[in-house]
Amino acid sequence: MRLCVFEATDGPRSGLVLGDEVVDISAAADGSQWPVDILARGPAGVEAIEKAARSAPRISLNAARLKAPLRRPGKILGIGLNYRDHARETGREPPTTQMWFNKQTSALHGPFDPVLMPAVSTALDYEVELVVVIGKYGRHVPRGRAHEIIAGYMTGCDYSVRDWQRATPTMIMGKGFDTHAPVGPWITTPDEAGEVSNMSLKCWVNDDLRQDGNTGEMIFDVPAQIEHLTKAFALEPGDLIFTGTPAGVGAAFTPPKFVKVGDRVRVEVERLGAIEAVITQETSQTRIG
Ligand code: MN
Repeated sequence: MRLCVFEATDGPRSGLVLGDEVVDISAAADGSQWPVDILARGPAGVEAIEKAARSAPRISLNAARLKAPLRRPGKILGIGLNYRDHARETGREPPTTQMWFNKQTSALHGPFDPVLMPAVSTALDYEVELVVVIGKYGRHVPRGRAHEIIAGYMTGCDYSVRDWQRATPTMIMGKGFDTHAPVGPWITTPDEAGEVSNMSLKCWVNDDLRQDGNTGEMIFDVPAQIEHLTKAFALEPGDLIFTGTPAGVGAAFTPPKFVKVGDRVRVEVERLGAIEAVITQETSQTRIG
């Protein structure tokens, strides 16, 4: 299944994407619930979606205003240098230990909403990534059981402000700017996503194909990531994992090909769909309250 959240006249609603249509499944959502909450109910949740979809109104996918398909997560985690060719293009050896950082949860952003060029930098870069959506609590989850806590997958872009990222060892300041974690266009459940270790990932800036990789090139695959993370802390429903990016980021070109205001950045993961943003200038105006 492909589960989205779309903006209706009375607020956001959960939807089931069927071909070029979206079926309103808010009747299955039991009040304020989101797709991750419905999926957490297991087979009963799936049944509720199917039942709601039989009689619910449909709208055209083109007309639907899609939002990030989940509420603000408890955590957004990202792994660095997880593709050999990307590690190489940054001039570093492929890591032997998983290197994690957090993106701020407030950076979560809709799949087609404008992404902000920071007021304080012009070194804005793109990273197409497979994003894992956690569906169940998990602690000390061995790789063989990692699939049990995965609700689904999305396409994401790990926007990175390179000068702020590199200014300190933790990278956190450069990875969590507002609007810099767009995801979507919907959550694809594992049965429909297919073989996660063989998905092509692409990023275009305007019509220029910059990244063209495959998830099979990951150094640490998704089960290894879940096993490692849950040795330290719990993963919980709605948490997101950005699983790394292949070669071709703007910073790797000489001179760097950072994105500019007005650029259209499109990222796509095979079978999960594409998301797209126009880069828009942020102002440095003080806002309080
Ligand atoms: Mn990344």
